[in-house]
Amino acid sequence: MANNGQGEQNQPAKHQEVGHKSLLQSDALYQYILETSVYPREPEPMKELRELTAKHPWWVGNLMTTSADEGQFLNMLLKLINAKNTMEIGVYTGYSLLATALAIPDDGKILAMDINRENYELGLPVIEKAGVAHKIDFREGPALPVLDQMIEDGKYHGTFDFVFVDADKDNYINYHKRLIDLVKIGGVIGYDNTLWNGSVVAPPDAPLRKYVRYYRDFVIELNKALAADPRIEICMLPVGDGVTLCRRIS
Ligand code: SAM
Ligand code: CA
Repeated sequence: MANNGQGEQNQPAKHQEVGHKSLLQSDALYQYILETSVYPREPEPMKELRELTAKHPWWVGNLMTTSADEGQFLNMLLKLINAKNTMEIGVYTGYSLLATALAIPDDGKILAMDINRENYELGLPVIEKAGVAHKIDFREGPALPVLDQMIEDGKYHGTFDFVFVDADKDNYINYHKRLIDLVKIGGVIGYDNTLWNGSVVAPPDAPLRKYVRYYRDFVIELNKALAADPRIEICMLPVGDGVTLCRRIS
């Protein structure tokens, strides 16, 4: 987990007070998870895509991509819920997309949206080689109008088994307003980065990167809104940068 800049070493951690143990007490423990459980079982195409993304010319190359442990988690989750009809908002080079495509059945579908096609096309040859590209319907452009169109259309209500949201954090609330209609009852929406680099608990004067500071309040508002939404059950997991699972119940 990212350091939240609070000098937490000097304070007794909350989880110790209540007798629980945080899973990620150190980088070494995270490395242990990766080396023991994740990397040895990472499908070859995901490894290839991860390595290709690490060489991405953007400085954000590695920051943007889903981590290998979260990819493994998504892959497992999708199998557990037997997801078939899925959606992804925020594709980048496609690591979480590939984790999804490998998990769903051969006739499963992923409606994948991103404003940038170039990055998707960078990873596409790996996805094609893995034999799962036929499951993907990629749409270039902002996701919100596509969601609005689907709502207006009527026939997509309650049709998605799983939606992974990993794009512009200032729109998550807007996505949620639409996705709650589009996901089926019993289906799951996963919102990524809900711990936002640990910044959700950073004091006001903490030295945060500009983009972390900018989106922080949106993430905090989202977390409050999800916790107060009676139409869903929620579970916030400290995987990757935090992922909140929302199961639609009404
Ligand atoms: N899930 C990806 C992965 O596993 O590598 C990472 C996604 S990256 C963190 C966020 C992506 O959201 C970027 O590729 C960006 O182009 C895209 N994005 C930003 N605003 C968007 C919007 N309004 N609609 C769709 N995609 C958007
Ligand atoms: Ca993410």
